[in-house]
Amino acid sequence: MQSAADDPEQLLDEERQWCAPWGGSEDGARCDKCQGRGRTGFECWSCVLTGTNPECPACHGRVRYESECPVCRGTGEVQGRPRRGVSAFPTAEGLYHYLLATEAELVGLLVELDAEPSGEVDFDADQGAILVIPTAIQNVRPMQPEAIDTIRSLSEQ
Ligand SMILES: [Zn+2]
Ligand SMILES: [Zn+2]
Repeated sequence: MQSAADDPEQLLDEERQWCAPWGGSEDGARCDKCQGRGRTGFECWSCVLTGTNPECPACHGRVRYESECPVCRGTGEVQGRPRRGVSAFPTAEGLYHYLLATEAELVGLLVELDAEPSGEVDFDADQGAILVIPTAIQNVRPMQPEAIDTIRSLSEQ
């Protein structure tokens, strides 16, 4: 998702390919996502909503599993420094679900990218988000509010 006011081509600008946690979590604070356990449950919403995909770049077909917490990288303390990459989802469905869950406003542009994995873990990897280095912009279209009701009903099943 990209603000409608921003040029999607900015995603190809190397200096902008960094991701910081929402809400500016303090580096070294106890990790809220895993309550300091260092591990948390992952749900790949792209695969939950569109079917298990063994080639899914977020979960590789695991869909629901437990793994190292992405916010603290298993340490129990927030690793809040910006990470290399642009936050993305393998499918639009996964993105829509994420935005609904975070109660973000669904306004802006849906940008489809060609991209390589950045090698870093997204702060919301447990929701199926991935950090990528975009290499090309495939398609730009408005967010589709009509898709929201479908995602909402699928998510509740
Ligand atoms: Zn997946
Ligand atoms: Zn954690």
